[in-house]
Amino acid sequence: MRKPIIAGNWKMFKTIAESVAFVNEVKGKAEVSGVESVLCAPYTNLPALVEAVKGTEIKVGAQNMHWEENGAFTGEISGVMLKDLGVHYVILGHSERRQYFAETDETVNKKTLAAFNYGITPIVCVGEKLEEREAGQTKEVCRVQTEGALKGLSAEQAAQTVIAYEPIWAIGTGKSSTADDANEVIAYIREVVKSLYNEQTAEALRIQYGGSVKPNNVSEYMQQSDIDGALVGGASLEPASYIALVEGA
Ligand code: 13P
Repeated sequence: MRKPIIAGNWKMFKTIAESVAFVNEVKGKAEVSGVESVLCAPYTNLPALVEAVKGTEIKVGAQNMHWEENGAFTGEISGVMLKDLGVHYVILGHSERRQYFAETDETVNKKTLAAFNYGITPIVCVGEKLEEREAGQTKEVCRVQTEGALKGLSAEQAAQTVIAYEPIWAIGTGKSSTADDANEVIAYIREVVKSLYNEQTAEALRIQYGGSVKPNNVSEYMQQSDIDGALVGGASLEPASYIALVEGA
């Protein structure tokens, strides 16, 4: 049985004080047995968040990391630094990073491999652009990105990886993929993992849907056979909405 995982991707939102106030409001509420709850915050908020979630079931994630342990990489943060803070998850290859910060399948792969060196679980994002969807290339794009990200991981590491299927046209637009369509793509991604590894690995790996997930549609996704949670942007920013997402899972 795969444990559903709701992850809030706060993107470039919230100060330290706002993060701590958020946790104080969701404590004991965005904690539902059988559902994993993760808050992925800007780097500056991570130390305070790790402190704030102590004694709760909520875990903390970063939104990116560099693949090297240290070195002359001005402005970058490494896995060893995140581990030092007590961060459990890291989002890798988000479409905004691919689009605005030149992330490629190759850099996402290096980061995914590096995350495991520090015991950090990667949440690897894949998903097609609108024009790719319209050209019927959705599955092909997701296959290439999934294969690219997992390259060189052991079956055990792949089984622990979380993949987030986020169609780019659905991010922050209010235009979500239908639950059936998302499930079809996610089931296909699971097939890709099976062909790379084996059935056991594919059945263990969790795949989230992301893109305009809200409290009022989260359960539709969660009822699908292959969708194991959601990666949520906008609707994860308000405590009440985040609590409803976790409850809806
Ligand atoms: P929205 O939930 O705001 O559409 O963002 C999705 C996303 O990019 C999560 O990583």
